Amino acid sequence: MKSSMKIRKKGMVRTMIYADNAATTKMSRTAIDAMLPYMEEIWGNPSSLYEAGQRAAEALQSARERIAGCIHATSQEIYFTSGGSEADNQAIISAARIGERSGKRHIISSAFEHHAVLHTLKRLEKEGFEVELLDVHGNGMIYPEQVAEAIREDTCLVTIMYANNEIGSVMPISEIGAVCRNKGVLFHTDAVQAAGHLAINVEEENIDMLSLSAHKFHGPKGIGALYARKGIPLTNLIEGGAQERGKRGGTENMPAIMGMAAALEESCANIDVYTERLCRMRNRLLEGLSRIPHSTVNGDMQNRLPGNVHLCFEGIEGESLLLLLDDRGICASSGSACTSGSLDPSHVLLAIGRPHEIAHGSLRLSLSADHTEEEIEEILRVVPEAVDYLRNMSPLWKDKISGRREFLLP
Ligand SMILES: *Cc1c(COP(=O)(O)O)cnc(C)c1O
Repeated sequence: MKSSMKIRKKGMVRTMIYADNAATTKMSRTAIDAMLPYMEEIWGNPSSLYEAGQRAAEALQSARERIAGCIHATSQEIYFTSGGSEADNQAIISAARIGERSGKRHIISSAFEHHAVLHTLKRLEKEGFEVELLDVHGNGMIYPEQVAEAIREDTCLVTIMYANNEIGSVMPISEIGAVCRNKGVLFHTDAVQAAGHLAINVEEENIDMLSLSAHKFHGPKGIGALYARKGIPLTNLIEGGAQERGKRGGTENMPAIMGMAAALEESCANIDVYTERLCRMRNRLLEGLSRIPHSTVNGDMQNRLPGNVHLCFEGIEGESLLLLLDDRGICASSGSACTSGSLDPSHVLLAIGRPHEIAHGSLRLSLSADHTEEEIEEILRVVPEAVDYLRNMSPLWKDKISGRREFLLP
């Protein structure tokens, strides 16, 4: 099962319902089986010229072709990286270096990107680039008209995520890509949440660069890829040997690459079945949990990742809720894994206009296709109880119930 997790604590084994697949996923059996031969048998270096190395080189080439095939690219357009973050960094830095050669230093992005994008843009700002973050609509969407309006003569890059990792909204990528293509501006998309979950076609969707990460689609951690359309000169983040056509030094992580290729192929082959199943469970959860009084669903209802459930509950702290859920057997998240531990509310929820107080009370459940009906019903039983429990302990909530303070959500 990909959706349950065993935790050993003080000699006891607990089985948890794992509903945090946007943070990471359990590796599939297919992915693990695809990796083992590259640790046990074919462990040569693909750069070595003798037979044992060349066996690895052939496998590497086949993995590259299979991954390219899943997004309708060619194998020469795939560059392996250490994950989604590195792919985002390399795409953005490369576009910036291309831009500055012709004096173009304006970059368009959005306020709710992943920190791998936002922090890379911050670094470029310090170098003198001008970064314009588009406003996100209340439903979690960015529209092509916004991009068209923002593009200038000196724009060197538009980088807009394919699907948001917190609230699950899916952008009109093909239309945004078309706007950029027409105006001759490079278009990168962080597709880490989309790859393996939505059908991607870089050709038809006018995408110049795209980031993906294996551990978000039941592959191993620490491996990802950057797709860069033929002819786009990449800038190295890591200097070294001639690996990745000289654009990323370091001996290839063969087991991880083979695991990633297997996981992506498996996910893409099953996309229709998984989507149908996930949407059914997702809608049941959204419908059931939004009945909790003084709550709101975040993100767009139509353009939404199949497995994403995201709500805010007034009068509670998301962190308290997820710790309580942990105690009751459910692994969930208050938003992005990267900001947990900090007390600031999620930049994504602020970007869609949620007030601080509401943004603090967030819950994200991100599903995998093999949850059982019983697990979904268990979540529907436990979450409202936990919300009630926390609200009853809160002085702020007592003020609201007694009318001394206004409710912000109906
Ligand atoms: C997880 C994630 C990343 C980072 O990927 P890593 O492989 O963990 O570096 C980047 N962007 C989005 C949208 C993500 O969800």
